Amino acid sequence: MDAATLTPEWQFLEKCPSCQQNDKNIVGRLVSHNYIFGSRRIALPRGGVALARCNTCGLVYKLAVPTPEFLKTITTLEQAMLWRLPNYDFASEIAAIQAYHPGPTYDLLDVGAAGGELLRAAPYGKGRRSGLDIVQFDGLTVSGGGEFICGQIEDLDLKWSGRPYDVVTALDVLEHIYSPPAAMANLRAVTKPGGIVIIETGDTDSIAPDELSLWYYLAYFEHHIAWNAQSITAIADRFAFDVVSLERKRHKLVEKETFELKAFIKYHCFKLNPKTYHALQYWGGFAGSTPIKPNAKDHIRCILRRLPLPRHYAS
Ligand SMILES: [Zn+2]
Repeated sequence: MDAATLTPEWQFLEKCPSCQQNDKNIVGRLVSHNYIFGSRRIALPRGGVALARCNTCGLVYKLAVPTPEFLKTITTLEQAMLWRLPNYDFASEIAAIQAYHPGPTYDLLDVGAAGGELLRAAPYGKGRRSGLDIVQFDGLTVSGGGEFICGQIEDLDLKWSGRPYDVVTALDVLEHIYSPPAAMANLRAVTKPGGIVIIETGDTDSIAPDELSLWYYLAYFEHHIAWNAQSITAIADRFAFDVVSLERKRHKLVEKETFELKAFIKYHCFKLNPKTYHALQYWGGFAGSTPIKPNAKDHIRCILRRLPLPRHYAS
């Protein structure tokens, strides 16, 4: 496909993609007319992108999202501009594993493994180290008899060894998925009975309801949904996981509180008048996106334990 003439393709939702109910409130509309993705500016669909909150399970979801095929095409074209992960030691995630998994040895599967950063941070020689991602990026190596699983966690025909894991991590993954039930079914399959799943994702409870449309997190082209404690607990229960821990946190790359005058000014200019801010950026030719609120504690870490026997799992 010719990159210059790429036309966005959208799909439109009515029902909640998690619980499938159609009882929702419209809680806002994205303020920008464009998404910024890699080096590109992608015009929003006609009518913009409305944000809905499900009244049944609490999930926040966009009523218009790129088709999976279009997202895949543009991700492939923009690969060089994306997936830059600054140095991060994953000490906090490894500590969470050690707090909830008994003993120093565990088989680990990292969903959204990118360059294998988390796998390298985990103790070496203490179990299988495996990764799942859409492509095997440079630097991702598996060890201890581990495997690389090519695909997405919501794929219906995921090809893997069939040998489940003690610990499965999904850090900054669940906001990208189209079908939460399909993802949860696979997470259940890849986790041993009694094993844990560690999820990190954005937390809509950290944002005032009337500010969701200003949240940088939903201004990402590839973020289709946003979770909170209620919506995670609802789907965990449905797929027979116990929620053993819920913790509000910063995003893993901005764990430490800092003060940057530029970021502070940017965010407050944006908040003053979001439409003008975006319009000025557009006409100024800047490929800017919605600014991040400095030092926002707007993520959640959730630890689920797979119940040994299905409690009321439907299939
Ligand atoms: Zn729902």
